[in-house]
Amino acid sequence: MTTNVLHKESPTDLQTASARRAAGLLDSYGHLSGRDLLEVMIGIEFPGRIALASSFGAESAVLLHMISQIDRSLPVLFLNTGKLFGETLRYRDALVESLGLTGVTEVKPDPARLRESDGNGVLWRTNPDLCCHIRKVAPLEAALRNFDAWITGRKRFHGGLRGNLPVIEADATHVKINPLAGWRKQEIETYFEAHGLPRHPLEEDGFLSIGCMPCTDRVAPGADIRSARWSQREKTECGIHLPLPETHPQGNDR
Ligand code: SF4
Repeated sequence: MTTNVLHKESPTDLQTASARRAAGLLDSYGHLSGRDLLEVMIGIEFPGRIALASSFGAESAVLLHMISQIDRSLPVLFLNTGKLFGETLRYRDALVESLGLTGVTEVKPDPARLRESDGNGVLWRTNPDLCCHIRKVAPLEAALRNFDAWITGRKRFHGGLRGNLPVIEADATHVKINPLAGWRKQEIETYFEAHGLPRHPLEEDGFLSIGCMPCTDRVAPGADIRSARWSQREKTECGIHLPLPETHPQGNDR
């Protein structure tokens, strides 16, 4: 069942349509997670209209491995903000090679917008919300125009706004699939071990949630996994995952 009508409507209609579609999918598939959910979304509900957004961070290999088992050519959107760790870029290259992924696309900020608003490259310090908008939110929005749904790697154990994450939800324009929403940290570890997946090289140095270099610190022992992102600020999300005003039902997965 393919729905390509979402992007022919007004912004309000789009939000309503994506929320309605997500609610229906949650009713039907809210009991699924992981690869089972991915297979239905990729093969049945959104064939040719769904992409994975991956940071190639500390936990990303789990979803990337599942994708490689279902469809190696699935579009994978990698947001290269220009502020990432070199280790992340090398880890990306190694994973793409070892998993045989052929659909990875590097999504970058608009150079003109960067020159205009972040000419000296330190906007992250003076206005991190604008920096995230230019380097992450706007490029991802543009890259998602060709899709009706996207897949994220967020999990409830990350805490904060993610504590009530449903497996299927909607943003203003798209359905969002969170196949690992109910997975616990130990299940991630078990999956890595079971499939012999390589770890992000910064993980052994204490970086457990890895984003841009200026805004990522080591996680203190026992602290929430996302506590070291924008650790000196109130900010907890870059903006690509901020929720709609209405909350959505959580579904009945774990
Ligand atoms: Fe800028 Fe930091 Fe956001 Fe990266 S995480 S886009 S450096 S504010």
